Amino acid sequence: MNNPLYPWQQSDWQQLQNYVTQSRVPQALLINGALGIGKLHLAQTFTHALLCENSQQGGFACGKCSSCLLLKASTHPDFMEITPEEIGKNITIGQIRDLMEKLSLKPQFARYRVVLIHPADALNNAAANAFLKYLEEPTERTVLILVTHRMNKLPATIKSRCQKFTMAMPDKSLVLQWLSQQTPNAEIVLNLAQGSPLLAQQYATDEHTQQRSNCFAEFLAVANQTNHPVIIAEKWLKLPEATLLFWVSSWVIDLMRYRHQSAPKNLYHADFKNALSELAPRVNPLKLYEFYDLLLQSRRRIETQINKQVLWEEILIAWAMLNRS
Ligand SMILES: [Zn+2]
Repeated sequence: MNNPLYPWQQSDWQQLQNYVTQSRVPQALLINGALGIGKLHLAQTFTHALLCENSQQGGFACGKCSSCLLLKASTHPDFMEITPEEIGKNITIGQIRDLMEKLSLKPQFARYRVVLIHPADALNNAAANAFLKYLEEPTERTVLILVTHRMNKLPATIKSRCQKFTMAMPDKSLVLQWLSQQTPNAEIVLNLAQGSPLLAQQYATDEHTQQRSNCFAEFLAVANQTNHPVIIAEKWLKLPEATLLFWVSSWVIDLMRYRHQSAPKNLYHADFKNALSELAPRVNPLKLYEFYDLLLQSRRRIETQINKQVLWEEILIAWAMLNRS
């Protein structure tokens, strides 16, 4: 097996390898960092390496030994993965209790036993408490790897009992080099993804590009009064709201840039520059700032139980009004 890591993960890997070579692999490792930089991939690669009986140069798993084959077949007795049973839901106390029962037995192989928990912020309070009890008396040769991009959602008690491992934002030139091999729009998508390579990779897909263009056309249609905000709100309800909200905010930022400069650099949506430059002189800059404020508030509100249809209606009606004044 060759080096399976992303190009920006080499120094992270070296750090993890140091744990192994110095025989001080933590009993609970909390891998954290921004969304879309490959934390889970790093955790999985490390898991494979810990379980492999014949690790290769660089510390990577061989992919051929009985342990590697069992892992590939998802039947390794010393590997457990804990994730929410449904996407977006919590990890339950039942799941943690099952895990504790399994961990009370000794590992079956000579090497490590690994438990991968992701996203760790999905541990609900009861599950987190049960988990804490285990961390007070961990079993031998067992490594728990927790992965999260939302450290603030994790109980302080858990954070304090884990060895924190923070992945930094990857080097931009390295990421651009990697991304350019996959898309001609590397700069644009990386900017949109705010430096997050895997998010950028996702943004570069045809489907995503098409969706962004469609939404922008609808945003313009509301401005030009050729479509109704309530109808567009209903359409937008079906899309991931955080992404959509970021798009709208970044269209507004691009419009502000055009209000200040005739040919601004570093546009988020350089591919929409013709439409943006045409629209910019028609909008009232003060109202545009007010609208941006509304978007910032909405970013906080989507984290709550708010009715999303109402939220999009409010945003799109405000946008329509802005363009009418
Ligand atoms: Zn192996």
